[in-house]
Amino acid sequence: MNTDAPESSPVLPLAAPDAALRPPVMTPWRLWRVISRRERCCLFGGWLFSLLLSLGLGLLSVVDDWSGIPLQFGGVTIYITLYPALLISLWWSLCLGWWWGALQAYLTTLVLALYAGMAWQWAILFAFADPLGVAVMVLGFRALPMLRGLRSMESVVHFIQLSFVGSIFSSSGALIWTYCNNQPFSELLPIWQGWWLGFFLQNLLLVGPVLSLSWLVTDRWLSRYIALKSAAEAESRHLIVLLLALVSVGALVYGYLSLSLGSSLLLGQLQHGLPPDIRHAALVMTQTGWVFFWVFALLVLFNAFFAYRLFLHWQGRNQQLLNALKQSNAYLAQLVRLDGLTGLLNRRSGDEVLQQEWLRSQRSGLQAVLIMLDIDHFKQVNDEYGHDVGDRVIERVAMLLLEHTRAIDTAIRYGGEEFLLVLPQTTLEGGMQLAERLRQQMAGRALHCNDREIEVTISLGVAATSIVMQDKAAWVKQADMALYKAKRAGRNRVVEAD
Ligand code: GH3
Ligand code: MG
Ligand code: MG
Repeated sequence: MNTDAPESSPVLPLAAPDAALRPPVMTPWRLWRVISRRERCCLFGGWLFSLLLSLGLGLLSVVDDWSGIPLQFGGVTIYITLYPALLISLWWSLCLGWWWGALQAYLTTLVLALYAGMAWQWAILFAFADPLGVAVMVLGFRALPMLRGLRSMESVVHFIQLSFVGSIFSSSGALIWTYCNNQPFSELLPIWQGWWLGFFLQNLLLVGPVLSLSWLVTDRWLSRYIALKSAAEAESRHLIVLLLALVSVGALVYGYLSLSLGSSLLLGQLQHGLPPDIRHAALVMTQTGWVFFWVFALLVLFNAFFAYRLFLHWQGRNQQLLNALKQSNAYLAQLVRLDGLTGLLNRRSGDEVLQQEWLRSQRSGLQAVLIMLDIDHFKQVNDEYGHDVGDRVIERVAMLLLEHTRAIDTAIRYGGEEFLLVLPQTTLEGGMQLAERLRQQMAGRALHCNDREIEVTISLGVAATSIVMQDKAAWVKQADMALYKAKRAGRNRVVEAD
């Protein structure tokens, strides 16, 4: 009967699921602490440079009026706005994390809004629109892990979808911009459409390709901070909650502000003597707008809550699966080490213990003892009472070994009905005493099995380490030869190695 473990271990290393696909949460302050001085200069210098570039290009876009540029397309007029600052911010956020682009987008838009003459209270609110759009995209890449190198069809489609939603969110400030800068009503559509369509198209044509080209380098650099990356993983739940809350609240606040501004403007116009039925219609329209807004607000809140629950559920399931996998791996690892019948170490792991104990005794100069024992005439037990009774006898011997050994000793099932005991820091006399005790215990107690009393004896060979011994194999050989002598001398006895 083979009690040895298979040669190859089935224990698989546990890899964190899709860790490589998740966008990192490398907040600027966290990276600042871990990267080298040179990297700090490059990274933060580059970030500041791109902030200045964004500001410069942003100023150009306001001065030169790159807003709502009309383009004829198949008989339809579409409006495009060029706003490079947002594209640069988005690239930072997708590469390193939301904060990197969000800070830049907020600062740039704030400065430009103030420059364009917006009241500071409005400007502070208005500038949140771009970080909001960026948040939607980062959230999308976090919820559905995708490689940001955009090398697969799946990730490209994901990017396109997110770009669309992100641009709608980013353009949520358009109405505020129009109202606050006292632009004529006719400008409203070109500006709003220019913002979202412009951002969407520039995202696809510029940010996507640049991200795809730069991702390989960024990812390679980031993987040097793998510890940071995994620490950040743990915080991903907080980030999801934060971003979800931000997106939901942002959408509601912008909706509310746009509607308030729009309706107060409309009510202002109504003062200028319009016919009563048109006035009535305008009032109904405004009220309908508000009803719609509050229903929409509830929908947004429910959706955000639902998405959060879904995320928790999904994360919980993942964790459960991971735990189950860890447990079964630990179980497999045990199976490989232990003998199935007795629960003692099997030959393979027993050999490792032997080798270690051999080395330790050589290094420390303290003797260790090896007892090799074998059940006498075990074949007859099998033949006479059957294999199951034979198994009980083997179990009984294993129990006996465990009962009579110290915690630092190791019992090994070495072969069919052959066992080893490794006794660290033990003299030959001590080993002989234990061996004799085991022999007496076995011979003195009959085993009660299937209404029969079965008497079984064991033979034992005892060998201690010595400095003249060459290796572990020589130690085992000596114990084996002593056991052989015990058998030759009539069995049921203990023999000491020469
Ligand atoms: P000796 O006194 O010389 O040791 O004689 P023996 O009969 O004990 O020795 P031998 O090596 O001839 O026979 C060992 C037997 O042990 C043969 C094998 O079928 C049986 N055996 C090995 N593993 C198991 C096991 O797991 N369960 C049972 N029931 N029998 C086993
Ligand atoms: Mg035997
Ligand atoms: Mg044998």
